Amino acid sequence: MPSLAASLDRIAMGQLGRLQRALLPDYNLKASAYWWTMVLLGAATIAYSLLHVSQLPTDTHWQLIACGVIATLAGAFPLRIPRSTNSFAAGEIFIFLLLLLHGPAAAALASAGEALVGSWRTSKRWSSRLASPAMAAVAMFMAGSLLHWALAELKARDLFNEGVLLTASMLFAITYFVFNTLLVTLVVNLKRNEWPRLRTFLGSFGWVGFTYAGSALVAALLELTFQSFGIGVLVAAVPIIAMLLTTLHYYFRQQESDDRVLEARMQAAEREAVRTTQHLRELEHIAYHDSLTSLANRNRFNECLLQALENQRADPSRHFAVMYLDFDRFKLINDSLGHGAGDELLLKVARRIQQHVRPTDVLARLGGDEFAILTEHIDNREQTVALAERLQEVLREPLQIAGKEITTSASIGITFSDFGYRTPEEVLRDADLAMYKAKAKGKAQFALFDSSLHKQATEQLSLEGDLRRALVSGQLSLVFQPIYELAPRRLIAFEALLRWHHPQRGLVGPATFIPLAEESGLIEPLSRWVLQRACKQLSAWHAQYPRMARIGMHMNASSKDFASVTFSNRVSDTLARLALAPSLLTLEITENALMERMDTAATTMTQLRALGVGLSIDDFGTGYSSLSYLSRLPINSLKIDRSFVSQLQGSAENSEIVRAVITLGASLGKQVIAEGIESAAQLGHLEQLHCGHGQGFLLAEPLTVRQASALLAGISAQSGVPAPAAEQLASKLPLSLRRQAKLLLPTH
Ligand code: C2E
Ligand code: MG
Ligand code: MG
Repeated sequence: MPSLAASLDRIAMGQLGRLQRALLPDYNLKASAYWWTMVLLGAATIAYSLLHVSQLPTDTHWQLIACGVIATLAGAFPLRIPRSTNSFAAGEIFIFLLLLLHGPAAAALASAGEALVGSWRTSKRWSSRLASPAMAAVAMFMAGSLLHWALAELKARDLFNEGVLLTASMLFAITYFVFNTLLVTLVVNLKRNEWPRLRTFLGSFGWVGFTYAGSALVAALLELTFQSFGIGVLVAAVPIIAMLLTTLHYYFRQQESDDRVLEARMQAAEREAVRTTQHLRELEHIAYHDSLTSLANRNRFNECLLQALENQRADPSRHFAVMYLDFDRFKLINDSLGHGAGDELLLKVARRIQQHVRPTDVLARLGGDEFAILTEHIDNREQTVALAERLQEVLREPLQIAGKEITTSASIGITFSDFGYRTPEEVLRDADLAMYKAKAKGKAQFALFDSSLHKQATEQLSLEGDLRRALVSGQLSLVFQPIYELAPRRLIAFEALLRWHHPQRGLVGPATFIPLAEESGLIEPLSRWVLQRACKQLSAWHAQYPRMARIGMHMNASSKDFASVTFSNRVSDTLARLALAPSLLTLEITENALMERMDTAATTMTQLRALGVGLSIDDFGTGYSSLSYLSRLPINSLKIDRSFVSQLQGSAENSEIVRAVITLGASLGKQVIAEGIESAAQLGHLEQLHCGHGQGFLLAEPLTVRQASALLAGISAQSGVPAPAAEQLASKLPLSLRRQAKLLLPTH
């Protein structure tokens, strides 16, 4: 059976354990043992000190109480040292004074009081609230006893004077500071299981050590004054010290608030700097990225290309390739479905391309529907060709745009670093040239750059210069190809076709120089020249052959003419100046050109139609015009492309297309003109299909002014003349025109 003492022991242990857990939940064994030791030692010191002080003469009690109260109150208002976590309680001066006047017991009590108030203010933990006063009391009692012993020794050896007192007081203060700090930091060190470090010790408490020394000095001076002049001086000194400390307190607070303002300013400046950096980053993004697709833009691509060129210069084994992509039907999609759909298409194709290039490749949108890819570290050309093929394959897959299924394809031009490029512009120029070569091959093709493309481009450039000069130096002329009504056969109009007599190259066809003129902007003066010349010629013929006054003139116009806002005015001015009926002029636009510029062309077409000018779709069947456009556009005639007419015999399919166009024309109320009739069989076939009008080498080749005049003269002469006389007249015509004149003779 357990003894009563053992039971009480267990209960006591149990209560102690609970107390321990409540007071020191995060203390380890060593730290707890130390804490308890210090608290008990402190309690013993305080008990001893109280006993000792109670034995002092009663007239000194008020001094003890006054100094104790001041010290304790000062503990409640510490001086916070700016830019440091430490504070200094001015009460130390009075505690040191108590030490000098009444010994370590009185000072230990005052220290404990000041520490109790201080820790109560700064900590909510009872562990601190109990340990701080205990440690302060122990430290003060030990250091104070040491000072008293030292002073007694010095006095006994007759070595004591005022200077010694001041020095000893300061040494004491430092000792006290070291004791107190050591006792306090030891708890933390024990909790962390580490040795106290001198650097941390000095770093965190050094400043306070000096204030302690200063306080001790003041206290020693006060004590000396008290010894010489009595208590009155002390009473006077208290408010002076209080004032001094108050001033210091406010000075420190002011400094703190200045610091806070400064810090706030610095923080604001820092925030501003962050904002500016962010802004700069955004600007940089805008400068280097395409806003629609977020891909790199031309600037960024050029920089990457420059880097690739530099890399290759440093290490010639680092080859790169550049691809230039252009979508084949983008304009058409953009114009017919709207710009929103165009943007959607660009975004989707950009994403598709991105999925098939390597992360290290640079994909950029250069503008419009043009993209470029830079691939570095390529081992052979086949790799790049394979990538181009793969891209064409994925780009051909249908896309859902604006709720419609759209198919598109890309033409790709490729160039390689082997050509010894020096600038990014050279690389892009050649990739672009290769892309044009790919486009010329048809849709969805790719082409590799080779130096012959360069030659072609240079030639084109020189041709462009020549064309500019041709306009002013009389190298251009017009030929006129007759257009006939087929049954009964009757000349109804001429089509004006442009010719260029190049001084070195000889005759250059419009198929070569019209695209050049369109690209270089020369098309406008060129069209102006053709319009004036053709109308003037028609007016001259009308004057010369009044019976031919119903003969009209067809003129080819480019999509750029139809896009120009001044074009219809120019046409009406020319017609008015020559007093020509607008219905005598028909403007032809190819189906492809019309589809490319549908939005702008439609406005000009309406204006021209309002004038009374005829409109015809040239090369019909080669483009993509839809039925809805045809019925909506104010056009008068469709010209069936030569390619269908020439294959009329060979292909049943072509024959069906021609039949369909003729039927379409009839149902929409448009004239249908078959182009490029070269054989009697084709003509017969067209007549069978009830094609209304025709044009072609069989009927008449393009004629010079003189030849056309002779033709008109012939027709004019034979109209109203009996057939044999007409035959006679026709026989007088030059050989080349006789056949055409005969064709016009009544067929009966
Ligand atoms: P187009 O308007 O379709 O003109 C008909 C073209 O076919 C002419 O070629 C003509 O000589 C040719 N042609 C006529 N009948 C036959 C035939 O039976 N067989 C063959 N094989 N060809 C025939 P040309 O003069 O070389 O003109 C080519 C194209 O250049 C024209 O095609 C037209 O689109 C364009 N063009 C011609 N003159 C001008 C112009 O003044 N301005 C503009 N913008 N384009 C023009
Ligand atoms: Mg034409
Ligand atoms: Mg044509």
